[in-house]
Amino acid sequence: MKTIDDLAVAGKRVLVRADLNVPLSDGRVADDGRIRASLPTLTALTSRGAKVIVCAHLGRPKGEPDPRYSLAPVAARLGELLGRPVKLAADTVGPSAHAAVAALRPGGLVMLENLRFNEGETSSADMGRDFFADRLAGLADLYVADGFGAMHRKHASVYDVALRLPCAAGYLVQAEAAALRRLTGAIRRPYVVVLGGAKVADKFSAIASLITTADQILVGGTMAFPFLAAKGYKVGTSKLEGGQVDIAAGYLEQAARTGIEIVLPSDVVVAAEPALDTPHKVVTADAIPEDQAGLDIGPESAALFAAAIRRAGTVFWNGPMGVFELPPFAGGTTTVARALTDSDAFTVVGGGDSGAAIRALGFPDAMFDYVSTGGGASLEFIQGKTLPGLAVLEES
Ligand code: ADP
Ligand code: MG
Repeated sequence: MKTIDDLAVAGKRVLVRADLNVPLSDGRVADDGRIRASLPTLTALTSRGAKVIVCAHLGRPKGEPDPRYSLAPVAARLGELLGRPVKLAADTVGPSAHAAVAALRPGGLVMLENLRFNEGETSSADMGRDFFADRLAGLADLYVADGFGAMHRKHASVYDVALRLPCAAGYLVQAEAAALRRLTGAIRRPYVVVLGGAKVADKFSAIASLITTADQILVGGTMAFPFLAAKGYKVGTSKLEGGQVDIAAGYLEQAARTGIEIVLPSDVVVAAEPALDTPHKVVTADAIPEDQAGLDIGPESAALFAAAIRRAGTVFWNGPMGVFELPPFAGGTTTVARALTDSDAFTVVGGGDSGAAIRALGFPDAMFDYVSTGGGASLEFIQGKTLPGLAVLEES
């Protein structure tokens, strides 16, 4: 795989696909982890005299401009971190982008507006992406892939542009691949995987593969409820999608057969809704009240998970154990984070919200062996799946 060190970038227009999909709150960047992770590549390119064009997505707009998903707060934060203002074009491949690129000088940097304001970006049909990919590639001479967290998507800016321009991997992509490779092949055991978070539909299928490589899978977050339901427990108003319960039952059965342990919460913090001022209490996992939702794993479960993590040789953690954004539901995530930092294991945290969670709870990245910027992308990587954005770099 070629890296940016192999590219002659001076005076060239370099399109950099970054992953700047960060959480916002009140129109400001709430966690800038992914922006910081993009800095090594961006500063290397500008200091080598490239004309840098940064492109990225934010959230899931529906293929047309939507001010709620503007990258403006991200451009502002990137400017603060770089120590100079970052110009944001008002469109992605339109007149504003062209004017901004034309005005670039060597060492300069502009950002394009949200890639997903264009329906061609995420189209599942190759032809649907072609037109947009042509226009995006038309802005630049070279392409640098550094948006690791989006590389599992066959999107125009991730995949098709790499076919149209001379390309190379950025430093973040290199670092991610090097760290996550240690979770494939020869893994130091016991290998403990901790899964949580809310994007159950996106992540559920990963268990099918992890169940064959991990020694223990600890399940918290929303992810726990299909499993608890599969055991016949009532889960109240906790988030649950129909088909997931049967799949969870299948995983439990497979785990029992193959000697892998799927560890579920034995107690749960429940409340009527995820709000600061709603009363909450701890109940056993088989006693979730009908009108309440599970919003965190309980203290007994957290201690159980922590003990497994302390005995591990390798830990991969994706997805917070509860609604960590609210202190009443942050206990499980805090206990798991502390167990990782106390453990002698090789510890990797993956996931946009997971990284944000540990930092918000006071555990800096340096306390872990690696904090991946990828959520779905890291999960797919460690399952040994082919990431379209990586494959296209390896082929070129
Ligand atoms: P990541 O980005 O790390 O892959 P996800 O996006 O899947 O993680 O999930 C993160 C979100 O999951 C957080 O915003 C958190 O509030 C939410 N969450 C965790 N547990 C629960 C729960 N029991 N009920 C509702 N939301 C939850
Ligand atoms: Mg997330």
